[in-house]
Amino acid sequence: MITVAEAYRIVLEHTKSYILEEAYLTDTLGLVLAETIVADRDFPPYDRVTMDGIAIRYDHFAKGQSIFEIESVAAAGSPRLILQQRQNAIEVMTGASLPVGVDTVVRYEDLKIEAKRANLQIDTLQQGQNIHHKGSDRSHGDILIKPGAIINAAAVAIAATVGKSKLSVRMLPSVAILSTGDELVEIDQKPESHQIRTSNSYTIQAALKNLRVESQRYHVHDNQAGLEHKLQEIFNQHDIVIISGGVSKGKFDFVPAALKAVGVEKKFHRVKQRPGKPFWFGTSPEGKTVFALPGNPVSSYMCTIRYILPYLRKCLGLEPLTIKQVILSEDITFKPTLLYMLPIKLENTPGGFDMAHPLKGNGSGDFANLIHTDGFLELDAVGRNDFKKGEVHSFWES
Ligand code: AMP
Ligand code: MG
Repeated sequence: MITVAEAYRIVLEHTKSYILEEAYLTDTLGLVLAETIVADRDFPPYDRVTMDGIAIRYDHFAKGQSIFEIESVAAAGSPRLILQQRQNAIEVMTGASLPVGVDTVVRYEDLKIEAKRANLQIDTLQQGQNIHHKGSDRSHGDILIKPGAIINAAAVAIAATVGKSKLSVRMLPSVAILSTGDELVEIDQKPESHQIRTSNSYTIQAALKNLRVESQRYHVHDNQAGLEHKLQEIFNQHDIVIISGGVSKGKFDFVPAALKAVGVEKKFHRVKQRPGKPFWFGTSPEGKTVFALPGNPVSSYMCTIRYILPYLRKCLGLEPLTIKQVILSEDITFKPTLLYMLPIKLENTPGGFDMAHPLKGNGSGDFANLIHTDGFLELDAVGRNDFKKGEVHSFWES
């Protein structure tokens, strides 16, 4: 049996960068950017007028001039005009390029215009006001977005501005979720008294959707030949397989044997953790990755959070999650020499660390309790059994 740290390291050693793909900008929301977006010109690209009004020379205002004759009109989108007479004004619209020879914009609200003469209604002006200067936000050649960023609405705006109608993005891996168990029925069915509805496949699928990774659900009975057949079928279509159930020591737990039979190489089986001790991980010669999680809903959920999501984040080129440190709110004793992933409720405290309140559940079968959980607190009972109120431990958000 290996430690959680070793298991985690091995899992992350087997990540792959999925192929880059060119996608239309309009299809990239939520995907991971795989290129650098650079400013193709200054931001803004010209001295941009930010108010409708008139543009004048400040030095004339400073000398006491308050009436300006309007020479011409600069609309947004019209080529840059030139002031002909220093004492005059040019009417300017928001978004227009500031004409040559003027340096200050006075908005209509501070003017009266009659017969092409603007009469200033205010006593003070700031030289350069209402102008968004060329290059004042970003310069030509500046890096605007780095690879690995998740494309959100702002990123779409920036990409559009620099003229990228297509973006290079990381292709999402194709994931299969395979539940096993003769006791399981689909969620739209009424279980017999000895059956239950499958929930793990849905939980795992939902957790993956948070990373925008889509997956397909499959189910097989506890039958080795059937399992092998289904695995072959899945390997033809998917990059990653997440199996739930059938990986423990029961008489009908055929997953490890079936995986071996179809040529998947075991990297580890059984991890010093609770829940989730029977966790199995391996890769196939064709480069497929297999996670086989114990069927208990809390176990499979914890393994998804603790191993599969970090694995996918790395495959997608995302930054690793920052693991928060939080304070244990009460004494906990845990005897087995395992790493205890304790479901907790977080209490936000102003400033500093958050408080972790253990949830009193009934073990790894008690998934109704998960609804109250913010995540898992990592208590490493390999070295000791008692954890004291006030200690700080790592928290894995669910
Ligand atoms: P196993 O790992 O197959 O021994 O299953 C352990 C426990 O988890 C059993 O009580 C199963 O009924 C339950 N279980 C297994 N798979 C699922 C599933 N897909 N959804 C909900 N519970 C499951
Ligand atoms: Mg089972």
